[in-house]
Amino acid sequence: MAEHTDQLLDAVNRFTRRALTADEVYLFDLILCDNEIDRDGDCFSDAALAELQKRFVGVTGIFDHNPKSGNQAARIFRTEVCTDPVRTTRTGKPYRFLRANAYMVRTEGNADLIREIDAGIKKEVSISCAVSRQTCSICGANRLKQNCGHRKGKQYAGATCYTVLDGITDVYEWSFVAVPAQRGAGVTKTMGGGADGEKDAMRRELLEMSSLLDDMTDDLRREVVRLCGQQGDNACARALARTAMHLGIKELRTLRESLSAGRMAAGGAQLQPQQKTDAAEADAGNNPFRMNG
Ligand SMILES: [Zn+2]
Repeated sequence: MAEHTDQLLDAVNRFTRRALTADEVYLFDLILCDNEIDRDGDCFSDAALAELQKRFVGVTGIFDHNPKSGNQAARIFRTEVCTDPVRTTRTGKPYRFLRANAYMVRTEGNADLIREIDAGIKKEVSISCAVSRQTCSICGANRLKQNCGHRKGKQYAGATCYTVLDGITDVYEWSFVAVPAQRGAGVTKTMGGGADGEKDAMRRELLEMSSLLDDMTDDLRREVVRLCGQQGDNACARALARTAMHLGIKELRTLRESLSAGRMAAGGAQLQPQQKTDAAEADAGNNPFRMNG
């Protein structure tokens, strides 16, 4: 540690009812989060890191996977945002992380836990916080207010879509967990609720399913465009094919059904699926038979 134990102990004792001695407390530090894009395709803004730095002072952490714990809570007594002088994030920004100093009052009950932390076994931290803005890196929309249609992890004109988390309105807790989501820090985070590994796993599964559904919608769209092409090379079929680019999965299924049922003689020049555009994605919920342009 960079600082003398006495200084750290002074900082600890601002949070305790009586002054604790160096023998009574166990001091350790941890990385709460950083500004790198995590496995969920999210990253914190600099302003969010600064806000988290302020709000996490005094917050208690838990070691949730050990139910017999009586006295296994630790408390953060100091935080700082650090910048790595060498490393940059995947978006080319200087790598920043939120480092915290925590303490635990030593008891018989947490001796094993302390040994595990010392051995580096419990390095992974999950934080819970509430954010008011989830900004799409492609179009700048706040995903909490509107679904812009861009998918995290997908490429748009060569740029990978991710979400910038900003406007921290609350922090809830932090805990040691088994599986890290954030690549660099070994950190997972949960927005707006309690943090636990199971929820994180479910969230990841949901994201995967949503991405799969997205791909299936794309396939369906291609199929509908192909069926439109079979209606013959005329303005109406072309307009219908264009409309298909703006439809959601329900409308596409309906359209495929009617196109298949009322199929006329095949053989017209096939229409090629257009490149999906931002407007098409944003418009996905529109009336199926509205013509655009
Ligand atoms: Zn967007």
